[in-house]
Amino acid sequence: MTDPEVDREGAPAAASGAVAKPKVHKGRAVVRRPDVDTLFSINPDGSRNAIHPADVRGRFQLLKHALWIVLIGVYLLVPWLRIDGIPVLLIDLPARHFYLLGQTFNAQDFWYAFFFISGLGFALFVAAGLYGRVWCGYACPQTVFLEGVFRRIERWIEGPAAARAKLDKAPLSGGKLVRRGLKLVVFFAIAAVITHSFLGYFMRVEDLVDAVASSPAQSPVAFVFVLVATLILFVNFTWFREQLCIVVCPYGRLQGALYDADTVLVGYDEKRGEPRGPAHEQGAGDCVDCYRCVSVCPTGIDIRNGTQLECVGCANCIDACDEVMVKLGRPKGLVRYDSQRGFETGKRRFLRGRVVLYAVLLLLGLGVMSFAVTKRHPFEASLQRAPGMPYQIEGERLHSVFDLYVINKRSGARDFKIAARPEADVQVLVAMPEVQLESLKDVHIPVHVFVDKAKFAHGMVVEIEVSCDEGEQHLVRVAKGTLLGPSTAK
Ligand code: SF4
Ligand code: SF4
Repeated sequence: MTDPEVDREGAPAAASGAVAKPKVHKGRAVVRRPDVDTLFSINPDGSRNAIHPADVRGRFQLLKHALWIVLIGVYLLVPWLRIDGIPVLLIDLPARHFYLLGQTFNAQDFWYAFFFISGLGFALFVAAGLYGRVWCGYACPQTVFLEGVFRRIERWIEGPAAARAKLDKAPLSGGKLVRRGLKLVVFFAIAAVITHSFLGYFMRVEDLVDAVASSPAQSPVAFVFVLVATLILFVNFTWFREQLCIVVCPYGRLQGALYDADTVLVGYDEKRGEPRGPAHEQGAGDCVDCYRCVSVCPTGIDIRNGTQLECVGCANCIDACDEVMVKLGRPKGLVRYDSQRGFETGKRRFLRGRVVLYAVLLLLGLGVMSFAVTKRHPFEASLQRAPGMPYQIEGERLHSVFDLYVINKRSGARDFKIAARPEADVQVLVAMPEVQLESLKDVHIPVHVFVDKAKFAHGMVVEIEVSCDEGEQHLVRVAKGTLLGPSTAK
């Protein structure tokens, strides 16, 4: 049995199943079981094999870090943004109201969410069909916070990868206690900030600030949520890390079904790189077997073993190998973005049936949603028969009671006028001919309808007109109800 605490750079990939003598590179990080066909990050006894990816620079790192600054900024800022006093994005669960880009929605509008969520799902399918795990490597919150925030702080406090790995193995000392303690406190504080910001998408920030400033007893639900979510994030970003992508995330598990031979993935040009060997060796390929691509991998795999489940498409290995190639005076791109067909034949195909299908479904979903939202009525009015007797006979008249439901779906308050459309032989009494409703507030108004018994006809309809002014426009909705009488109510 090989010593499990060997340098990771010296190890062949788990996926290959091959057993090779590990090389030990001075100053490099972390450990590896080269003799066991298992996840790099899990030891055969089930214990965790911590990964400390080495630092890397390059064009993809620049791109990712710029993107992460924008994404984190957007995440933290959005709960504070307003359009005309309306939250830019707020899912007010207790009130069952939803605010998006100045529009207000209520529970009846929930069906829009189907198109929105399915649109997002197909967007991820299109991205995966074209560029594999580009979402995972560049924009997934797990990656953004782990690589963009937590790993950077870890580096500032504990040093580069080799120092972190050394600290892992070092016996407990004052210095270790201080560094680890400081790291954990900072991690917990950041996890709390992320959680509070997340809560800002579900409760108004003013209420959130009040809740934070007051005793937990005043907002017990929010307090418990923040505490539990902070602990989960803390454990995730401190310890669980890449395991979320490797063993938990369902999107990661789906990838195999979304790829085809033309999907552009991070890969190794075997034709160019093999046989591996030192730079000066006659007949050797371009790969000098330096293991630099492995040392920077956040999931600990060797991209030279082909596409693997654990690869999150972060492109660290591309930048790392490009650095090596530049130093050797060889062309970049031994490890690069390319499709399986591209690596094998040099030919590439961008548009394929499945990608076009996903894109069409995505556009369809977003198109239907956009159309429905733009055609959305600023208010709703409906007429239902009131519970109880469908009608009463009062002398020579039939008396029916209806319930008129009106809801204001606009952001500001609105004045509504309510009137019956004139109908011969029908007399209508509306309990409230005028009503003012705040945004997303509704009202139930009793409507009494009287008809001469002798003039009652099967299928008679009462129509109530609800109107309001919006700028120059006079908006009208008509709520209809069918009358019942002796000939129909058997
Ligand atoms: S970084 Fe490049 S040269 Fe070094 S081992 Fe990886 S593929 Fe080979
Ligand atoms: S193999 Fe390369 S792209 Fe894949 S996770 Fe590792 S470093 Fe990132």
